[in-house]
Amino acid sequence: MAEQKQDTASALKDIISHAKEYGFVFPSSEIYDGLQAVYDYGQNGVELKNNLKTLWWKAMTMLNDNVVGIDASIFMHPLTWKASGHVDSFNDPMIDNKDSKKRYRADQLLEGRAEEYEKAGTPEKGKALLEAMAKAMTDDDMSGLRQLILDEEIKCPISGTGNWTEVRQFNLMFSTQVGAVSEDASLIYLRPETAQGIFVNFLNVQKSGRMKVPFGIAQIGKAFRNEIVARNFIFRMREFEQMEMQFFCRPGTEMQWYNAWKETRLKFHKAIGLPAEKLRYHDHEKLAHYANAAVDIEYEFPFGFKEMEGIHSRTDFDLKSHQGLSKKKQQYFDADLDENGKPYGNYIPYVVETSVGADRLFLAVLCNAYTNEVVGEGEAAKERTYLKFHPSVAPIKAAVLPLVKKDGLAEKAQDIYHSLKRSFNVTYDDGGAIGKRYTRQDLAGTPFCIAVDYQTMEDNTVTIRHRDSMEQERVAIADLREKIGFAVSMERVFEQL
Ligand code: ATP
Repeated sequence: MAEQKQDTASALKDIISHAKEYGFVFPSSEIYDGLQAVYDYGQNGVELKNNLKTLWWKAMTMLNDNVVGIDASIFMHPLTWKASGHVDSFNDPMIDNKDSKKRYRADQLLEGRAEEYEKAGTPEKGKALLEAMAKAMTDDDMSGLRQLILDEEIKCPISGTGNWTEVRQFNLMFSTQVGAVSEDASLIYLRPETAQGIFVNFLNVQKSGRMKVPFGIAQIGKAFRNEIVARNFIFRMREFEQMEMQFFCRPGTEMQWYNAWKETRLKFHKAIGLPAEKLRYHDHEKLAHYANAAVDIEYEFPFGFKEMEGIHSRTDFDLKSHQGLSKKKQQYFDADLDENGKPYGNYIPYVVETSVGADRLFLAVLCNAYTNEVVGEGEAAKERTYLKFHPSVAPIKAAVLPLVKKDGLAEKAQDIYHSLKRSFNVTYDDGGAIGKRYTRQDLAGTPFCIAVDYQTMEDNTVTIRHRDSMEQERVAIADLREKIGFAVSMERVFEQL
């Protein structure tokens, strides 16, 4: 078991250092030793992330007739967060070890112990512990959680002691003040989710777009949470990006839409190259106060199956709360006829939400792409590392490489590079041996390398080297745009949806 743990820890470590070395993800403000749980995307990372966001955006808004997008502000009226329940209950239970002064999430310590029971072949003990934990978390007083930690004799990994403080509730929202003069300034929050920006604009979009229920509103944007224990690289960050869609439907039809979106979203992840065996549904047994059904799509990260996307049937909770607090009606008039031939009339729509973290999807795609294998046999065997991104998400689609710089080859390669760069993200590299240049592109996940050689000067053909198989084929320059363009296109992904 220990060896397995070592392997998964080192697999993630390798991915983190690869991400840094090849310009995907850097620790934030690194020259000042970084800022915990905050990261920056580098030159390749931002391309990969933008590709994922564009695929999601287009899959939502272009492929569904009844889904449109918005871009709401990060700052919102503070009552928004009162209505949504975040002011009163967006809390995590935290506990400190008095000796190491380290802070932990009490529920995560217990979940860790439950996982240990499962690995040790006693899953029933783990299940019982999780049930006891769920019960203790519904008490206002968090002493039950602390007692479970004491009963389980859970120790702090740093100090090795069980010298724990009381458990306290900790609100995850970041707050700041608006207004120049401190007496007039009022408290506002950095949004902890993008969903509320959609709810408060429900009627604006419905009326201005003449939208008929059922319809959806999609949004991509930053969200902020003061996570107590931030870990696993970009899996849990304090500043992150969400891609959310709220689908407004007639009450009573929500389960049909919930099931449909559940399937659609899983299909999306498979279409961008995540393997079926690394994806699974995880139904929520304990539902949030606003939900009548909820499921996570989990991906098998190097640290285990974890939530990547949540699909929730949120009933009319949010619109109803906003109606209550704002005193503005959040109703829709449905002119369609029911089975008795009467219009359905006024109601507050029910909502099915799909919510995926752009950064978690990025991490899943990066982990899946990271490949370290031995090629060749015997004496000639050597290790090869590359990123096998689906071509539609790869940061750079193709690299143009002249075999040598002299005899007009560099100029010919430059011409090809300039003619392709209007169609897709392409790079040019003429420095060093061609083998080394192939390797550099493999490490960044570029699916195609276009080599310009002496034959090119005679017959206007080049070789395309394929990243995964390393096979080469001879292609006419005139066919490059179509051949590579189709392979890297988003259309190929959409055909599977
Ligand atoms: P978790 O249980 O992992 O904290 P959650 O259930 O609180 O996640 P939601 O509130 O449902 O998450 O948010 C929807 C999605 O936003 C998640 O599925 C995840 O992809 C992403 N997300 C949430 N919190 C973070 C975070 N701190 N860092 C990165 N992504 C996040």
